[in-house]
Amino acid sequence: MTTTAVTATEASSPPVTFESLSPISGDVVGTHPVHTADDVASAVERARVEAEWWGALTFDERAKHLRTWKAVMTRRINQLAELMHAETGKPRGDALLEIALGIDHLAWASGNAGKHLKRRRVASGLLMANQAAHLEYRPLGVVGVIGPWNYPVFTPLGSISYALAAGNAVVFKPSEYTPGVGEWMARMFLEAVGRPVLSVVTGYGETGAALCRAGVDKLAFTGSTATGKRVMAACAESLTPVVIEAGGKDAVIIDDDADLAAAADATLWGACANAGQTCAGVERVYVHERVYDDFLAQLTAKARDLRAEDSEDTKIGPITMPAQLDVIRTHIDDALARGGRAVVGGADAVGERYVQPTVLVDVPEDSLAVTEETFGPTVTVTKVASMAEAIERTNASRYALGSTVFAKKNAQEIAAQLRCGMTAINGVITFAAIPSLPFGGVGESGFGRIHGADGLREFTYAKATARQRFKPMMALTTFDRTEKADQQLVKIMSLLHGRGSTLPKR
Ligand code: NDP
Repeated sequence: MTTTAVTATEASSPPVTFESLSPISGDVVGTHPVHTADDVASAVERARVEAEWWGALTFDERAKHLRTWKAVMTRRINQLAELMHAETGKPRGDALLEIALGIDHLAWASGNAGKHLKRRRVASGLLMANQAAHLEYRPLGVVGVIGPWNYPVFTPLGSISYALAAGNAVVFKPSEYTPGVGEWMARMFLEAVGRPVLSVVTGYGETGAALCRAGVDKLAFTGSTATGKRVMAACAESLTPVVIEAGGKDAVIIDDDADLAAAADATLWGACANAGQTCAGVERVYVHERVYDDFLAQLTAKARDLRAEDSEDTKIGPITMPAQLDVIRTHIDDALARGGRAVVGGADAVGERYVQPTVLVDVPEDSLAVTEETFGPTVTVTKVASMAEAIERTNASRYALGSTVFAKKNAQEIAAQLRCGMTAINGVITFAAIPSLPFGGVGESGFGRIHGADGLREFTYAKATARQRFKPMMALTTFDRTEKADQQLVKIMSLLHGRGSTLPKR
């Protein structure tokens, strides 16, 4: 990733700082410290003290603190939206929506942690009927969270809320493009709770790499697949477990009985919202040949009305990370050079800061615009002869984060055949806004889950306890076990598990 300027002198006199810049104007939004490996190690050490206190609270006590934090952020929602707008360039309305969804996750995580994690009795089985079996999910200790810039509130909160609700302290390293947003959330936490159970370290990739090596008990990474691999390699040195939420190349599949107006609306929003900088954004569309022309006409008509520009009421902001402009341009050029056509946008769509919506057709399946994450407001639309072909093409990607199906009769059946973490039916990216649903990918989109009960458990370890209630009828786990006990065991086993086969007994 490219870096913004370090503003402090090159001399060793601390602290070295860097600036976050507005992608709209290039103006300085804020100045932040570049935290060194030593700073990160100290932050993790301090977090360990907080983890002791926080982890010893009851689920209800933690939920109360998290509710206060939620209320403080909600009451200052406009302040946070303004900061997000300044650091990412995204329209204020989009920032408000993002915060609202993030806060909803925080509410769910804090309200449901006890239900999914607290100690409970589980069946002990016939062989161990004399045992009382209990299971609980305990906090790991200190969780490191590394977040991207594209959704600087929603995405990190997907890890932070669930890790905190599960009883962990968190050290968060926001992207170098959105350090102010990360610091703001931690400041609100301190104000609400009075202790820095959530703390922030800022800087470039090196600061993130230092967090991987700082002895955290788990590292939750959200970002590109390439960086995810580096994070995993660094964490492997100390066997630190990781959650990797990486990139995507999500497809929309449209069957011949779909509501085409709704499909066109959702496709355009899914492809262009947040200027296309969405991990689970729409990048490919596969449409049944019987409705292809009709769908394309509706999509292009809507797309032509949409402009990315520097204005107060724009619906599409700038590309936040300048280096991404080259990637988007390369993907469009490659598609056009290989026989594709732009029915909206095209070669000139990529400007100095903004990218205009671009709809590409007739693009070969092995071109960059189909195989690689573009992360811009572009989409390829491809005609297919059947839903089987659409499914095959969708599943051919090495990415497998989310997907969308627009269909009536066979929607569920199509969704069931898609190999990816989430599928929205007759809507787009809706799964991300349902807190009880887990979120995460397969293949190069990563592994592990945030959100939902799985997301809570991701930041815990399972603790199993077996307590003897009375002496066993058959003493099995002793060297005093008799031959008679062995024979009894064989009889019980054939009663319990020996049926269902016609092969002769030996
Ligand atoms: P990057 O992978 O470039 O960066 C992600 C984070 O990792 C940043 O905080 C970055 O810091 C940090 N980082 C960079 N190098 C290292 C390193 N060697 N060790 C540890 N941390 C490091 O991703 P982007 O910020 O560009 O985000 C966009 C990507 O995120 C897209 O691929 C998108 O699909 C994906 N994403 C995935 C989501 C999901 O849930 N699956 C959700 C949202 C985005 P710095 O910025 O300071 O370099």
